[in-house]
Amino acid sequence: MKTNDKGFNTKLIHAGAFEDEFGSATVPIYQTSTFQFKSAQHGADCFSGKSDGYIYTRIANPTIRAFEQNIAELENGYAGIATSSGMGAISSVYMALLGAGSHIISSGAVYGPARGVLEQDFSRFQVEASFVNTSNLENIIAAIRPNTKVLYIETPANPTMEITDIAACSKIAKEHNLILVVDNTFCSPYLQKPLDLGADVVLHSITKFINGHADIVGGVIVTKQEDLYKKIRHSMVYMGCNMDPSQAFMVLRGVKTLAIRIERAQENAMKVAQFLQSHPRVAWIKYPGLESHPQYALAKSQMKGFGSMMSFGLHGGYESGRKLMDNVHLAILAVSLGGVETLIQHPASMTHAGVSKENKIAAGITDDLVRFSVGIEDVEDILADLKHGLDAI
Ligand SMILES: *Cc1c(COP(=O)(O)O)cnc(C)c1O
Repeated sequence: MKTNDKGFNTKLIHAGAFEDEFGSATVPIYQTSTFQFKSAQHGADCFSGKSDGYIYTRIANPTIRAFEQNIAELENGYAGIATSSGMGAISSVYMALLGAGSHIISSGAVYGPARGVLEQDFSRFQVEASFVNTSNLENIIAAIRPNTKVLYIETPANPTMEITDIAACSKIAKEHNLILVVDNTFCSPYLQKPLDLGADVVLHSITKFINGHADIVGGVIVTKQEDLYKKIRHSMVYMGCNMDPSQAFMVLRGVKTLAIRIERAQENAMKVAQFLQSHPRVAWIKYPGLESHPQYALAKSQMKGFGSMMSFGLHGGYESGRKLMDNVHLAILAVSLGGVETLIQHPASMTHAGVSKENKIAAGITDDLVRFSVGIEDVEDILADLKHGLDAI
């Protein structure tokens, strides 16, 4: 079904779906590694590109392609590239766009391994990287070098919830001939469309909101243009970061409810944020939907809603955080985010434990920071659980 002219919710459910010979209402799982050619000539045509027939699942597969078309429409992009994980997406983008002697500027509070792979792995191939607080545009401009190729931002940033102005970054990128890449994991295309704001590439850990049920790991990249699509797809295929057909089936199922899941989660999140803001044990809270967030106005203009992620600090710091985590029972003590279930974690000892103390301080990841991903349970139960945990401190 053609969905180009349809609304977002219709696209969630129908974009990318195709009719198979049995009239299946859902996209079937093509659980095969390889595809039979009709003849020697057909095989040759598939390889030369004269035919768009399928060859081998690492290169392309009908179930995976259905998801790629779905997400490309949701992000208003040219085409999608599905990957084994969010890190598979990030690594494929780095591999395609960076080379020896080139330089990337990235948000300091970027997802930990997205920074680690640059510092520990790409650095061995003479790729240079600078990490700055991209929510202040001056920092980006000051970091630009003659060999800068990529500006990479994550907004809201993980886990500090700082917001970076995508349209302003796009302007800087155009002026300096940089490719602007946005990690849109925290928002999903329902809340934020970076390509519409001038980004060249958008990527996701679909493990989070897009799949939304905490049952698979996966990633995806969407580009604005064909040339970047071809470059990045080449890196993904040659490095073998491809998605699996059953992963694609799961995410096609999960994405259908993206909008209603996010609507409910952010409605809950606003109530949770207001509760935390007024609780005496809470020292500070950062949620883009509170007017106390330093970039509330930017969040309001750039995002369609404020999402369901927040971070907060407790009086008593690290020890209070530990007590809270050991005394909540509904919220699951686990990394990851964006699922139907409420999750709580402590970045300084968990997701960002590998980041050095100086870099953690520079990126705003304090020892007392607790990250909270609000799910779609009854909000009264989430609030009662938090209250119980806070009272135990
Ligand atoms: C989880 C996450 C990633 C990495 O994705 P994986 O699917 O775990 O490989 C990248 N960026 C952000 C913002 C994330 O939250």
